[in-house]
Amino acid sequence: MLKDYVLTVGLEIHAELKTRTKMFCNSKNDPDETRPNVNICPVCMAHPGTLPVINREAVKHVLRVGAAVEGELADFTEFDRKNYFYPDIPKGYQISQYKYPLVKGGSLLGVVLTRVHLEEDTATSLHEEGDYSLVDFNRAGVPLMELVTEPVIHDARTAGNFARELQLLLRYLGVSDANMEKGEMRVEANVSVQRFDLSPDLRSNLGTKVEVKNLNSFKSLERAIEYEYNRQAELLEAGGEILQETRGWNDATQSTYPQRTKEEAHDYRYFPDPDLPTLMLREIPEFAPEALKRDLPELPSEKRSRLERDFNLGAEAISIFVEYFPVALFLETVAKSLDTDRSAVALAVNYITSDLVGLAKGAGDIGRVFETLKFGPADFAALITMIQKKELSSRGAKDVLAVMYKEGGKPSAIAKSKGLTQKSDEGELKKIVETLLADNPKVVADYKSGKESALQFLMGQGMKATKGSANPEMLKNIIKEILRK
Ligand code: MN
Repeated sequence: MLKDYVLTVGLEIHAELKTRTKMFCNSKNDPDETRPNVNICPVCMAHPGTLPVINREAVKHVLRVGAAVEGELADFTEFDRKNYFYPDIPKGYQISQYKYPLVKGGSLLGVVLTRVHLEEDTATSLHEEGDYSLVDFNRAGVPLMELVTEPVIHDARTAGNFARELQLLLRYLGVSDANMEKGEMRVEANVSVQRFDLSPDLRSNLGTKVEVKNLNSFKSLERAIEYEYNRQAELLEAGGEILQETRGWNDATQSTYPQRTKEEAHDYRYFPDPDLPTLMLREIPEFAPEALKRDLPELPSEKRSRLERDFNLGAEAISIFVEYFPVALFLETVAKSLDTDRSAVALAVNYITSDLVGLAKGAGDIGRVFETLKFGPADFAALITMIQKKELSSRGAKDVLAVMYKEGGKPSAIAKSKGLTQKSDEGELKKIVETLLADNPKVVADYKSGKESALQFLMGQGMKATKGSANPEMLKNIIKEILRK
């Protein structure tokens, strides 16, 4: 039975760091460059006689990630050569870190981390139709962060959530755009399965690990883990054996396929790169753990708690504000304009998360849309105030907001020009009603003798007298009140 098998997953995540130049040379680090082989130089092309120089910005990025996950920041670090031969690796080795990573331990969303280290990216291979491939070296030597978790994840959903949280964190720290579709963040899952009923001693061996690559979305990550769980458990159940190998994920068939049998660490013949010095991190003031921690921005987890505490938001609203930085900034500015009045802010949250985000979704990137809105937070706050004062019905507010979104402008002016302003001035409405009743003595008599339709008639006349701008609820109450006298 499949339920007799336990799933164990560890993740290895690579993220391209946002830096001005590459990891060990002055070539530009520009992920948006479309022309092949322009951001290259003798160093990243591995010409003989060239020497690498460590990129300070990249080291700092990884240390900041380490500080954010509360890992142990190294006192010193070394770079090692990871040897393998492939056309996308010009030197015949990748400069990586083996024995002395920048960060050890730490955790994110309760998932314990093994390490975070710094290395360089490979070139991009383009496998063309026919019998040849092209290599673009723009990416060769771009700073790459590698984060490894402990094998402590036991379901696909947790793995997906961890990867989503890491993406958010990297974006909050400004160290990587971490776009999975663009390959800026690449997730590999080490999946193993074993029988539940093994003794605890045997269970700690975790079964044979299969590494799954080519995961270009969070959904693919989750599906691939589920697929591997089923494949491995079925294979074990049938008396088969799991092969330690690397498998690729095929999005079209929603299945994994064998790529190669997995290398062991010793296949890479790691050794310290003699061209690079040991980096004494403690001697560099800006790399001091206290300094790094002090300069961290508000992290996603902290923002969640703050939004919950300050605005009393539900999980769904929070996830929108935490994911889209400009949306949260918009809310915070609106809330300030509204004097953080609880009910007004709650109303604002509703109109932002349902109406405004709904409109923005149709236009693509929600964050981008909020950065380029045609109206400011103050105009939006004014709209919320109009709703609160019942100067606008909720229907009217939606219409006004749609105009603001499309063309910009002040809500009061739009409401007026579209005839959507509700008259909610009680004194003013009372006067109108009094005149109305004086002009229609017969209808008043009808109402007093119990004709309900008379009220409808008076309502109609009242709306007509105010050109449809009366708050209907208020109008009705005033008519009833005066007639009761
Ligand atoms: Mn790596």
